Amino acid sequence: MNTEQSLSESGIDEGPPSMPVVLEQLARIVGAQHVLAGQDVSARFDGWPPITALQAACIVRPRTTEEVSALLAYCDSVGIAVVPQGGRTGLSGGARAREVDVALSLERMSSIQALDRDNATMTVEAGVPLALVQQAAEAEGLLYAVDLGARGSATIGGTIATNAGGNRVLRYGMTREQVLGLEVVLAGGEVISSMNSMLKNNAGYDLKQLFIGSEGTLGVITRAVVRLRPRPATTATALIGARTFTDVLHVRERIAADTDGALSSFEVMWPELIDAAVATGRHRDPLSERHAYYVLVEVAARDADQRLERALAAAWQEGWVADAVVAASEAQAGALWAIREDSPARSAALRPALSFDISLPPSAMESYVEALRQQLLRQWTHARTIVFGHIADGNLHVSIGIGQGDEAARSAVGRVVYELLRPLRGSVAAEHGVGLFKREYMDVTRTMAEIDLMRSIKTHLDPRNTLNPGKVLDVAPASRDLAI
Ligand SMILES: Cc1cc2nc3c(=O)[nH]c(=O)nc-3n(C[C@H](O)[C@H](O)[C@H](O)COP(=O)(O)OP(=O)(O)OC[C@H]3O[C@@H](n4cnc5c(N)ncnc54)[C@H](O)[C@@H]3O)c2cc1C
Repeated sequence: MNTEQSLSESGIDEGPPSMPVVLEQLARIVGAQHVLAGQDVSARFDGWPPITALQAACIVRPRTTEEVSALLAYCDSVGIAVVPQGGRTGLSGGARAREVDVALSLERMSSIQALDRDNATMTVEAGVPLALVQQAAEAEGLLYAVDLGARGSATIGGTIATNAGGNRVLRYGMTREQVLGLEVVLAGGEVISSMNSMLKNNAGYDLKQLFIGSEGTLGVITRAVVRLRPRPATTATALIGARTFTDVLHVRERIAADTDGALSSFEVMWPELIDAAVATGRHRDPLSERHAYYVLVEVAARDADQRLERALAAAWQEGWVADAVVAASEAQAGALWAIREDSPARSAALRPALSFDISLPPSAMESYVEALRQQLLRQWTHARTIVFGHIADGNLHVSIGIGQGDEAARSAVGRVVYELLRPLRGSVAAEHGVGLFKREYMDVTRTMAEIDLMRSIKTHLDPRNTLNPGKVLDVAPASRDLAI
């Protein structure tokens, strides 16, 4: 290690700086106690799944936008890659760092700066956990509409960077539709403040949309203005058993129509998910018989119970519902959701689970799942599949077990999952982003013209490719490796 080397004026042309020099420069920007190295790095996990020790040259924890700007400008000037990290709950490997990267954690930028009740907006720093944003809105009788299983750890910045979906997309849309304004720092350190708080603003290009869903490859999100909604007075939840997928589609139509826009979740589960959950001993099957499909339905409105019961009765009369249980309390509703959200149960059943997040038209889902199962069994005779998803959004989550969980297994299984989507014009990334895991399959979903334009935008905003390189797209030039 060359401890003599110092930051040169000309930066990148003088060769990569050594680790001590980088640590010293970063410490000058954020304070020495906020640059972590060695065991303080490896003690953290690097994402889901599998959970492995974080590899990064160091973790830097800025407190302000100015510090983010200074540290990005420094790293860019010397050509070191920076990987933005929120709660590291992303499911596509977007926050994974190599041992030569600087991990930029937003964990100290975690304050809620303002809640404007009259205008139903909240101004937050990027590192605030999603659950805290939800709670702050609730305390004022309002709702932040994004909700997902990782709510306790996922940050608002991470959910914006991945354009997260979750359980209420059907009614409120994805994260993109909840963000009014953003503050972003570009790779070279330039701060773009676009902290709009109005619902309508058509003055030129809507730049924030470029950064939403860009997975930390175009800029670091430091603050956001998010939109809040009126909080529905009550929520009614039911679990339905259905005999056929056609019945499931009929039930969706009927409940959507009969609840007057109050349907907020429609989560379909194939029976293997219920089996896996029950096998843990943590849950019991809420219905007395096994069904071909299960649907978790949530209606949110002042008279949610009546609306749901009316719609269910109508669907029952049509013969589309084989059995159903309506939650009589919040605890019962929580128990139904716990079955759907028990991802460790799926991992335990599939040992290990290879998970995929895809989009396709709901009408094609049944035949897609059947074809997928057949193809998997042809290649791996012991393959097992657990399918569930936000089907009203056209989104399926497919967890597959073939007895191996390494990159080669993920790639081989991924090829089968994704190639079947091509004729359906489906998407390889419904809501979890592309990250590392789906980069090689982008052409299933996007045209070459689209991919080329994405590359041009990336190259324009990050010419040295120092911001989360290798994620979403493969772009030259590669940032240079830190000498460690
Ligand atoms: C149990 C479980 C359930 C989940 N359910 C859902 C679900 O229903 N729907 C869904 O959409 N997702 C779901 N997810 C995935 C995950 O929670 C989301 O992707 C979430 O948005 C990631 O937030 P994070 O703060 O953990 O981001 P990270 O995992 O830390 O980062 C994700 C990506 O965003 C980038 N990034 C993070 N912060 C910033 C920032 N401030 N500026 C720029 N880039 C940044 C990272 O570089 C990375 O590319 C689930 C995950 C788990 C573990």
